Amino acid sequence: MSRKPIIAGNWKLNKNLKEVKEFIAKIDGKLPAEDKVDVAIAAPALYLVSMVQERGNNPLKVAAENVYFENSGAFTGEIAPAMLAAEGIEYSIIGHSERREYFHETDEDINKKAKALIEAGVTPILCCGETLETFEAGKTAEWVSAQIEAGLAGIDGKDVANMVIAYEPIWAIGTGKTATAEIADETCGVVRSTVEKLYGKEVADAVRIQYGGSVKPETVAELMSKENIDGALVGGASLEADSFLGLLEIY
Ligand code: PEP
Repeated sequence: MSRKPIIAGNWKLNKNLKEVKEFIAKIDGKLPAEDKVDVAIAAPALYLVSMVQERGNNPLKVAAENVYFENSGAFTGEIAPAMLAAEGIEYSIIGHSERREYFHETDEDINKKAKALIEAGVTPILCCGETLETFEAGKTAEWVSAQIEAGLAGIDGKDVANMVIAYEPIWAIGTGKTATAEIADETCGVVRSTVEKLYGKEVADAVRIQYGGSVKPETVAELMSKENIDGALVGGASLEADSFLGLLEIY
């Protein structure tokens, strides 16, 4: 089964509009062909429309870092899936560990977000991952499986097949500690087996699973060579254009 890889940057709470435009100018004409890899950047909501305008003909997909699960109403400060879709934003991260930890997002919220995105035609990038404590206790597989089951509850297999799931061990995010390629592959395999248990082999073979956690241009090749890893979700190394392009050199 050959799945098209997807490399996505996650800028988090960084950059101003001038820097966003400079970044896009620097990658202009330098991204790999779209048939080899999907390339996306998740940016603060304020910049998404400009990014769609600035990307021109570059095969750059634009992603939100978060979204709400309602499309309209009295929800001050939120952004709707339908708003993303209407502006040409193709993906949205949901359930990033920073959202779970600092903004108290639950699996139930994340599941509602996944459903609302699918309904609007925006592809969810559903994050899962364990703390260092859970990892050291040898409970990663059961933790990650439970997050995936809860995140996907009630979603049709045909929609799951088109989703992206990102396995991001919390102990490897922003710490410089990349999980070894073997550990990353093993846990991405757990995610795939969980999808298989819930939806069968066809859906499990189709769903794309990223690894995230201190991925760098120097580590990306080995991680991407693994059977169950179909891409990367990258924070720090996506912030500078040269380093972001470095992540894509293998394609
Ligand atoms: C992330 O925030 O999703 C991430 C993986 O960050 P970093 O690459 O900086 O560890």
